[in-house]
Amino acid sequence: MNTIKKTEFLGMKLPELEDFFVSIGEPAYRARQVYRWIYQKQTSSFYEMSDLPKELRQHLDERAEVSIPRVLKQRVSSDNTRKFLLEMKDKKKIETVIIPQSNHKNTTYTLCISSQVGCPVGCSFCATGTGGFQRNLEAYEIVGQVLGSQRELSKRLKKNGEDLISNIVFMGMGEPFLNFDEVLESVYFLNDHKGINIGQRHITISTSGDAAGIDKLAQTDLQVTLAISLHACDNKLRDDLVPMNRKYPLDILMQAIKNYIEITNRRVTFEYVMLDGVNIRQQDAEAMIKMLKPLLANVNLIPYNEVSGLPFKKPSPQSIAQFYKWLVAGGLNVNLREEHGSDIEAACGQLLSRRER
Ligand code: SF4
Repeated sequence: MNTIKKTEFLGMKLPELEDFFVSIGEPAYRARQVYRWIYQKQTSSFYEMSDLPKELRQHLDERAEVSIPRVLKQRVSSDNTRKFLLEMKDKKKIETVIIPQSNHKNTTYTLCISSQVGCPVGCSFCATGTGGFQRNLEAYEIVGQVLGSQRELSKRLKKNGEDLISNIVFMGMGEPFLNFDEVLESVYFLNDHKGINIGQRHITISTSGDAAGIDKLAQTDLQVTLAISLHACDNKLRDDLVPMNRKYPLDILMQAIKNYIEITNRRVTFEYVMLDGVNIRQQDAEAMIKMLKPLLANVNLIPYNEVSGLPFKKPSPQSIAQFYKWLVAGGLNVNLREEHGSDIEAACGQLLSRRER
């Protein structure tokens, strides 16, 4: 028996969805109903879309699908950070980290999402990077990852998924600028006020230093935040830690960042993972101050989260404090990032390696 290939609704913009409904003889407003079910209520079953006529639900079930990925496994850290393992249609697996932020009124969550299955960059301190690369995620899979995580989180917390996520950071598995078009397409859906509705300023795209991607982002009118995974301020060390540096050495990267700031007038965040005895010497602080002080920049210091099988170590609290003090004294705007989820291997650089997929 021939099975008809179903139309994937996830990743279809509203006008396209309206065209679909008109093409099957339904009014366009049905598309708006379905769009709300998908993006505001994280619903993948047409049978749950209770404001659609019964026959239409059945017809849609035969013709279409909404592939929000399932959460296969989850781990919860002692600080309530969660790590979800999600499965794509082709059985490839990715991880998403959900980090709580509480203020006096309520708790919201930052989702740290993946843009690729694995990562081709191969940073030497990163579990994902040492595990190799499998494929890019498509825009609808990136969006599905957010919806699947929202759905699972709201089920666990017994709260409305719509209000739970306040920020999205592309800092999970993968280098977003090596999947530029799909990542930007996914931002459309994350930001759409008729859908997931996360403000662009609450979306951060983090790159390991793909200068061509930075140039391209500067040419868009997106208001997303750009973050750079810096980790070293001299080329020799950065070549070893972040191999993207061999393609775009620091002078080229910094020129792209300066151009980006000039065009967008937006502050750039620099992420710096602190590796004991490797990149937190006084000379490293001095090099960073020289490089970043003239820029509109924030620096996030991240104490390394150890990965079994890799030689890097987390610095002592004294070394971390000393490095921080040097940078602040040098006039940089520095945050010492709170650690989240290191006990469940959900912290930066700890997501799936190949042997775990
Ligand atoms: S740190 Fe980021 S860019 Fe580097 S290998 Fe890991 S996932 Fe890829």
